Formats: sequence, C-alpha cells, structure tokens
Amino acid sequence: TASNSYGSKRPREKLLGGGLLATEFDEESCLSRYDQPSLRKPSPHKPSAYLVSKLRSYEKLHKRCGPGSDAYKSATEKLGLKPGNGSSESVGECRYIVWVPFSGLANRIISLVSVFLYALLTERVILVDQRSGISNLFCEPFPATSSLLPRNFTLMGGKRRDRFFEDRGNSHCYGTMLINSAPNLTETSIPSYLYLYLVSDYSDDDKMFFCEEDQKTFIGEVPWLVVKSNIYFVPSLWLIPSFQTELIKMFPEKETVFHHLSRYLLHPTNQVWGLVTRSYNAYLSRADERLGIQVRVFERRAGFLQHVMDQIIACTQREKLLPELAATQVKNTSTRSSKRLLKVVLVTSLHPEYSVKLKRMFWEQPTSTGEMIEVYQPSEERVQQTDKKLHDQKALAEVYLLSLTDNIVTSARSTFGYFAHSLGGLRPWILYHNGNRTAPDPPCVKAVSMEPCFHSPPLYGCQAKTIETTPFVMSCEDSNPGLKLV
Ligand code: GDP
Repeated sequence: TASNSYGSKRPREKLLGGGLLATEFDEESCLSRYDQPSLRKPSPHKPSAYLVSKLRSYEKLHKRCGPGSDAYKSATEKLGLKPGNGSSESVGECRYIVWVPFSGLANRIISLVSVFLYALLTERVILVDQRSGISNLFCEPFPATSSLLPRNFTLMGGKRRDRFFEDRGNSHCYGTMLINSAPNLTETSIPSYLYLYLVSDYSDDDKMFFCEEDQKTFIGEVPWLVVKSNIYFVPSLWLIPSFQTELIKMFPEKETVFHHLSRYLLHPTNQVWGLVTRSYNAYLSRADERLGIQVRVFERRAGFLQHVMDQIIACTQREKLLPELAATQVKNTSTRSSKRLLKVVLVTSLHPEYSVKLKRMFWEQPTSTGEMIEVYQPSEERVQQTDKKLHDQKALAEVYLLSLTDNIVTSARSTFGYFAHSLGGLRPWILYHNGNRTAPDPPCVKAVSMEPCFHSPPLYGCQAKTIETTPFVMSCEDSNPGLKLV
C-alpha cells in the first residue's frame, strides 16, 4: 500500500490503475482518479508495459512543450508566418495538435481519444480547445502542465477564430488544399499550420489524412495541426502501415484501445463525480447484479415507443439479462428470505417512458425467478442541450454509471453507448435496426468487441487493400459502412 499526502492508505496497484496513471496529482482536486477503483471490478485487461512507457514519455514531452514553457512560446511565435519565411525550417523541438470538439458529448470524447492516440503515435503535444467548457467535465490529465489551449492562442483570437475553425474553405484546410492546388507534396513548402476536417460528413479529399504517403511527406512535417472532429478514427490509424507496428506493441489486445486510453485520459471533475457517487451509493451499490440499458431514439411517431420497448424486453429476456414474469407468485420465493437476489436496472435516456414502463412491469407482476428488480433512471432531460453545463455533466455522470454495471444493452449507433461500454470494458448487446419497421429477430446481438465503431471510415483509396487483408478490422454490427477493431 502507499500512503498519500492526505494520510489515507490505498493499495498502490489501485492508485496507479494498473500502472496506467501518473501518480503526481493532488488527490482532493480530482477524487475520481482515486475513487474509481473502489467502485469498479478490477479490469481483466492490463495495459502493456509498452503503452505505459509511451504514456510516461508523453507526459514528459507535454511538460516540456506545454503552455507556459519556452518551447510553447517560441512555437506560437512562429505560427502564421508564411511558408518560405523560415517557418518550417525552424520548427523547434515541439509539434502540436489542437483538438476542436464538435457534436454531442460522446462524439467529442471518441474523437478526443482518437486525436490523443494520433498524438502518441506522432509525438505531438495535444491541446484542447476549452471554449465548450471541457474543464467543467474533466480534470487535467497530465501532471504539472496543462492540456488546455490558452485562450489567447494566435489562431483563435478575435473574429478570426470562428472563421478559421468552422470554415472548410479555409486555405489551410488539408482537404481543400488538395482540391485547390493538387500540390505535389514533396515540392510544396510546408505551412506553419494545417486544419484537418475529420467530421462525419468529410470528403474524400479530407480522408487523404489516412494515407501513409500524405502523413510521411506532408502532414507529419507541419508544426501545428488543428483538427475538428467528432469521429472515432482509431481503426483507420491501424490501417496505416507505419503506425500499425507501433500500435500492435502498444495494444497487444486490440479491442482495448478506447478502454485504456479513456481510463488514462478522462477523469470526471469533483462536481460530476458527486453526481456519479451519489447515484451509485443510493441505487447501485446494494445490488447483486447491475444491468445498464441505454435508450437513444430519434423517432417520436406513435407506436415507436412500444416498438422499442418490445425489443428491449425481448432482448433482455432472451439473453437472460432480466427474468421473465410469472402469472402468480412463485412459491419459496415469496418469503422474506434475505437470499433473494436484487437486480438493479439502470436506464439512461433523454426520455422517461422506458424506465417508467419497466418499473411498472416489475411491480405489477412477480418474476419467475423470484429476483427483485429495481429500476432507476437518474435524469430525464428530454432534449439534447449540448454545451449547457449541468446537462453535459449529467450526461457524463450517466456514462460513468453505465460503465459501472455488469452488462449493458445499448441502442445501435449511439456513441453515448460506445463511450460507456468501452470505458467499462464490456461488450454490449446492441438493439440493432433491421431497416424496416418490424421487430428485429433476434432482437439484439452481442458485440464481438468492446471498441467503438468508426461510422465513416475511408473505404476506398489508399486504405482499401489493407482493409481487405487486415483480420482485426471488421464491419460493425450496427453500422454499414462502419469499421471496428476486434
Ligand atoms: P450519440 O448522439 O448517441 O452518438 O451521443 P452524443 O453524446 O454524441 O450526443 C447525445 C447527447 O444527447 C448527449 O451528449 C447528451 O447531451 C444527450 N443524451 C442522449 N442520451 C442521453 C442520456 O441517456 N442521458 C443524458 N443525460 N443525456 C443524454
């Protein structure tokens, strides 16, 4: 055990998250870093020694190059210089990648994790655009430095900032550059920064980011990359041959990329952690078994609610995640025996109707097994309100609560669900759509991997052949076209 500065003793193994986490943090300022292991079963997936050493080296790099350092100062001074004015020749020792979030919380997080992995692979320093209030959600992940892009960052000052970040027509946007001038990459002078548009509706030109040649001869040379993204592009990084060798060493268990990196990078703030622990202690801690059900629906037409509800019941009963109902009280189970199992069902959804129906169902009739079923839904926000502080904090708390359950059933294609099950190290049961409006049979499928799905991968062009021949990248159960690591 290790004694920390507050005198409490915690097992060293737990403090370190299996070696994944740096230790030089103040415990009180970010309780989730230290509390999580006591709420979670230990992950059966251990990070590789190579990943751990990469993270420790990354922390040193970030400290040396991060905001406040001399290297950062000199790198920002060179920004905006025209090519040929010495910008690329005097790059300095540090290269950067700025992440600009887009879409809902989970879309943001899966892209943040992707960008962080890219930063690890290319030895760039990741800096996070803080305009959307990410510091209300997460603690600082790196010791003795900051991951937040300073608010006075040259490219984001004044009116220029929105134009710069939101405009694909920007002359520094890589995809647009390729259309405009079809540059001969080896001859074009290297700009001081490049804007990468890696958003689900990106073009084939933007997708050239995933080509080894473009990485080697051009993108890798640019000191500052600014990437706007909402996608989990990790599978396509594995399809870049020179990255693959490194990735195999970092993640011998391929389906653990998001699992490890999210546990390393993301630590909810004390405010969010309060939401998590109050719910956990009041509703989940007593349970013998916990089932998470995440319902993400977009249709509000008549009959749709019942359609989804039927699918949830059919799935959970078929997979024995929830007991069937009995017509009458089953003998021997009606006694006040303390041995009766308590199963808690955590429902997360913008809408309250699903948990209300489930709760009613298990009150009105007994279960065939005699198990006690308790249904709990923490919030019912009804509409998505991304960038509203408490709304986002509740959403994040619910992701963490879901990740603390034993089994998860999720709606198809929802990144909210991906974030939760992958963080939790669980392969979910997916309530997939069958294209028409009839009940799918079977009602759900168990995912073959706990990794999130990359919904909009580049299927043609430089990666087409590698996709065909790489055995650990497959189509997603819930998205066509979509790729995931297995
Ligand atoms: P996706 O749209 O399901 O892929 O997930 P995102 O997280 O990117 O966007 C959905 C957003 O809607 C979330 O970030 C929340 O703001 C909100 N939301 C959706 N489902 C839930 C839920 O079950 N609970 C809460 N609190 N918010 C939700």
